[in-house]
Amino acid sequence: MESLYRQKYQDKKLSWLLEKAQEAFNRYIRKRDNNNPRKGFFTCISCGKVRDEKYLQAGHYMPAGSNAPVRFDEMNVHGQCVECNTYLHGNQEAYRRGLVRKYGEEAVEDLELKAKQMWKWSRPEIIAIITDYRAKVKEVNYD
Ligand SMILES: [Zn+2]
Repeated sequence: MESLYRQKYQDKKLSWLLEKAQEAFNRYIRKRDNNNPRKGFFTCISCGKVRDEKYLQAGHYMPAGSNAPVRFDEMNVHGQCVECNTYLHGNQEAYRRGLVRKYGEEAVEDLELKAKQMWKWSRPEIIAIITDYRAKVKEVNYD
């Protein structure tokens, strides 16, 4: 099975693999955070509002492009409403407060330090993210 995956991905460009990995990862985050007791609703990590799931996006605390080490860190990406993610460009200050509420100040500082490290995703790592998160999405089930 493993070698079949490798074969399937071996001719793909790194940029294509990263795109597919981000899709799979974000799909998992959207599913993970679509967990409000009120079905079909979620709580935005940054503004804290309970919103309809159609406004749920996977929003990065530290942007994916310039923070490679935390691009696929589950603590750096959460369900965020479209207003915060898109119109407020991530609503980063409020996002940070939301993370501190959820994980504590120390953990957020660790995440911020991790983000600044030198990092380059290798092809096997990216392929593992694609396959692992496609499998994880299937495991998350709130029904
Ligand atoms: Zn919001």
